[in-house]
Formats: sequence, C-alpha cells, structure tokens
Amino acid sequence: MSNPYKDIFLKPGKEQSLNRFHPWVFSGALKFVPSGLNEGDLVTVRTAAGEFLGTGHYQIGSIAVRILTFSDEAIDLPFWERKIRNAWEVRKSSGLVSDHETNVYRLVHGEGDGIPGLIADYYNGVVVMQAHSVGVFLQRRDIAEAIKNVLGSSLTAIYDKSAKTVPFKAGLTPEDGYLWGQAIAGHEVMEYGLRFRVDWEEGQKTGFFIDQRENRSLVLKLSAGRDVLNMFCYTGGFSFAAMKGGARLVHSVDSSVKAIELTNQNVELNFPEDPRHEAFATDAFTYLKDIKDQYDLIILDPPAFAKHRDALKQALLGYKRLNSRAFEQIRPGGLLFTFSCSQIVSREKFREAVFSAAAISGRNVRILYQLSQPSDHPVNIYHPEGEYLKGLVLYVE
Ligand code: SAH
Repeated sequence: MSNPYKDIFLKPGKEQSLNRFHPWVFSGALKFVPSGLNEGDLVTVRTAAGEFLGTGHYQIGSIAVRILTFSDEAIDLPFWERKIRNAWEVRKSSGLVSDHETNVYRLVHGEGDGIPGLIADYYNGVVVMQAHSVGVFLQRRDIAEAIKNVLGSSLTAIYDKSAKTVPFKAGLTPEDGYLWGQAIAGHEVMEYGLRFRVDWEEGQKTGFFIDQRENRSLVLKLSAGRDVLNMFCYTGGFSFAAMKGGARLVHSVDSSVKAIELTNQNVELNFPEDPRHEAFATDAFTYLKDIKDQYDLIILDPPAFAKHRDALKQALLGYKRLNSRAFEQIRPGGLLFTFSCSQIVSREKFREAVFSAAAISGRNVRILYQLSQPSDHPVNIYHPEGEYLKGLVLYVE
C-alpha cells in the first residue's frame, strides 16, 4: 500500500466495471468505508481481497467514488499538470488551439478527459472552471495552478464558477470568483470569425454553449436564401451562423429577456443595423402555436427536458410536442435542425420521439444528417454515458 490515501474495499465481484475502466463506483458496491472519511477526500479503491483498482474522489451519493487514475500514483500538482496537458494536447490535435477564427473551446470535459467532476472552458484567454464534485472543488487551486502552468502566456485569468454545481451535501458555501487574474471589460470571443460577448459571471453554464460549434457551421452552410427561425437562441450562436451563411431573414426566440438582450448585442457586433434579424422574448410553445409557413429553416435546441430518469417519459412527450409544431408548419422543402441535450434520452429514444412527431404531421421527412457533440466534448469509450448531444437535420417535403 504505497500511496497515502485511505482505502475503500468493494464487495466481492464488484470490481468488474473498474476492470473495464469505468470511472464510477456506486455506493452499493462498497463493502467497507473507513471511519473519518470526509466528502471530497482522495481514496484508494481496492477489491475485497485488497488489490489496487484506482484512486479517486469520495462523495456521499449514489456515485461514491469518481476515479481519477487506474495507476498507483500520487494526486499532486504534477498529476494535475499531466492531466491538463493531456487534455490540451487533444485540443491541439483537433486543430482548436491554433485556429485563428475560433478562440473558444472546452479544455476539460469531465469523464471524457479522465477528470470526473471538472469542466473547464477556454474563452480567448480566460478559463472558466466548474466543479461538479466536492473533490474537484477542494482541489481547485491545484487544478488552476496546473492550467496556468500548461497554458502559459495564452492565459489571462481563471474564473471559478462552481457555486451552483458543487453538491451542497458537503456543507460548503462556495462563491464564484477569480482564482487568478481578472476580467477585462468587454471581453470578446470568436467562433468561425463571428464575435461574441460572453458573460461567464452571470450567464448560463459557463457562459456560452460551445458544444454546438460544429452544428452551427452546418447551419451556416445550409441557410443561403432561407427564412430562419432560431428557437431557444440563448446568445444567438445559430442566428449569426445563418446570417453569415446568407439567410434572407433570421428570427431568434428565447423565453429569457437576458438571452434576447445578449443575442441583440451580438448581432450588433457582427452585423450592425442588419434588418434581416429580429429577436423575441417569448415562450417557445406559444410562439410555435401559429407560425404558419413563415420559415424554411427551423432550429430547435431546447434545454435538457429530462435531468432525471423519472422525467424521461415527460421529456419524450415534450420533444414530440415541440417537433410536431415545427413539422406541421415548416414550408415545403424546409430544413429542421432538432436537438436533445438530455443525457438520459438516448439517440434511439430521441429519434423515436421525432419520428412520432413527423408521423402526426403526415409530411414526408428524410434524415439528412445525424449530429453529435464536437471533439472538445470527447466521449471516453469506457464511459458511454458521456454522449449527450444528439441532433437530426431533416428535409421536410
Ligand atoms: N441554442 C443555444 C443554446 C440553447 S440553451 C446556443 O446555441 O447557444 C436553451 C435556451 O432555452 C436557454 O437560453 C433558455 O433560456 C431557453 N428556454 C428555456 N425554456 C424555454 C421556453 N419554454 N421557451 C423559450 N425558450 C426557453
């Protein structure tokens, strides 16, 4: 027993998923938890017979341990540096770090990058970190130091935005704030040469939905001459892609007034006083009640309808209702981009919901593209749960 962490022993036979490198240990698999263990502590997980399996963060809940390494090694600053450097190399190899037209990408995507509990997004020099586990939260300063050491001069600040994501059971009272450096007024980022103001202090998630980047580029490619509805627009990413792609008209809709303000600000940055764009702060279902055949390209990118398994049925009904409104009204020859970002809604289930919606409308529908999350949101092959974003591009006759 070479490392300094407390040992947790599994029930006999419960090591199978860890032998297959799945990073979660469920509480039901634990045989023995040492006394005095605190939430967020580093623990070494062992078989019932005492063999080493991995080291990770302990937490109270159904996922009891999130494994950080399957090797017997210390979790110290050099460890975090190796992890962050590895994630950065992956972004380099997919061309994101050197892209002159795009300077926003996800640097660390939790389990997808072998760091369960950590999200880190790069916004043109500023990294916004989000801890989803107590262990990562407690080690945020080491992690920030590692990010600083790896990114070097391409970094100007690190902001911690964990107040809403770190579990409250640990009795922590986290506050968002800068771990290093500070904000620069009017900070802008670029995606495909389009400019955005990102508000990581007040905005949703870490400030911007980076995961739709590649899907926005498909909208850019397919929107020439079309009348576009961007439903659930948030900061307007799909709207500017459509405008850059030569759309004839773009309407952006979101129920949040703040989102509509952000969208309008970003339109002004890229297409000042362009009469093609209008934004509306209203509920999606209300707006879609009676749009008739105004649009021939519709984007539906709703928030996660189902965050928990018991909400699955309701979520599928939601997707069906939403999509059937679009199918019934989209102009013949129109394109529907429809998404689901709920992790518990599988690709098959989502497709079935969209299929039902199409059938209700009686229209002829073909699937042109099946979309997913981009390379900076990688899926760890041993953790298929990491695949969450699903999209279809449909041609509606
Ligand atoms: N497409 C966006 C991300 C969408 S996030 C992008 O590319 O950046 C989901 C958005 O849906 C949020 O901005 C949220 O405010 C909005 N929203 C949630 N419920 C809504 C509703 N019932 N009607 C309209 N918008 C809604």
